[in-house]
Amino acid sequence: MVARKLCKSYGRHQVLHDIDLTVKAGEISCIIGPSGSGKSTLLRCINGLETVDRGVLKVNGEDFGYVEKDHAYHAVRPKRLAEQRTRIGMVFQQFNLFPNMTAESNVMSGPVLVKKRNRAASREQARELLARVGLDGCGHKYPAQLSGGQQQRVAIARALAMEPTIMLFDEPTSALDPERVGEVLAVMRDLAGNGMTMLVVTHEMGFAREVADEVLFMDGGIAVERGDAREVLANPREKRTQAFLERVL
Ligand code: ATP
Ligand code: MG
Repeated sequence: MVARKLCKSYGRHQVLHDIDLTVKAGEISCIIGPSGSGKSTLLRCINGLETVDRGVLKVNGEDFGYVEKDHAYHAVRPKRLAEQRTRIGMVFQQFNLFPNMTAESNVMSGPVLVKKRNRAASREQARELLARVGLDGCGHKYPAQLSGGQQQRVAIARALAMEPTIMLFDEPTSALDPERVGEVLAVMRDLAGNGMTMLVVTHEMGFAREVADEVLFMDGGIAVERGDAREVLANPREKRTQAFLERVL
């Protein structure tokens, strides 16, 4: 995934200023930064939930959300954008499961409804994915019958069911009770260890230090500092990064 000079405004308020970001295949990038710095907006632009005002976005080497023609950018047709979006998995802070569907049905929903896959095969895949996130035998439960950590793991399984080439996580553990954070991070570590390409907005500095290849520090809609994860976290070059890390570490 490559973003070049991404800009995004809400009305007169510019919330992303010329953001550059590259996540190489198989690598993990973490985005850190204070509240309101534009982290969620950046993720929402990357998976097409928001349109960008300017900038280049490529996923798997392919222009995302628009095509360049006659030296101008043209939005792709909604159907094409929807197809491109199926290859990007997203996990939100608030799980966002369908409350009226079992865990298994939640995981199957994308393959069946969007990809028009066979139900039996999708059910089998859902069972395997639930087992992979440590929820073997929980497929029949409804979200309300599951803990926050379990719901978030269902949400991860649901995103994986679409066989994405990149997974985006927006503070996936922030809404969890402290004792539930570890089980979700463990699933994410496992994914990272298995070569998944991941872009993770997180306040979990331990996770970032241990798992991330790169870290991007954002402040006020600006990519203040980007580099090797351990380097940025241990020896930040920028004053603003230093001040932020002093507050959170
Ligand atoms: P947090 O850590 O609190 O989640 P964030 O870094 O994810 O913060 P964003 O949610 O991306 O920050 O918000 C960046 C800025 O954009 C904020 O000033 C916010 O108020 C503004 N913003 C976000 N979404 C919208 C929207 N839909 N309409 C108008 N302004 C918005
Ligand atoms: Mg956010």
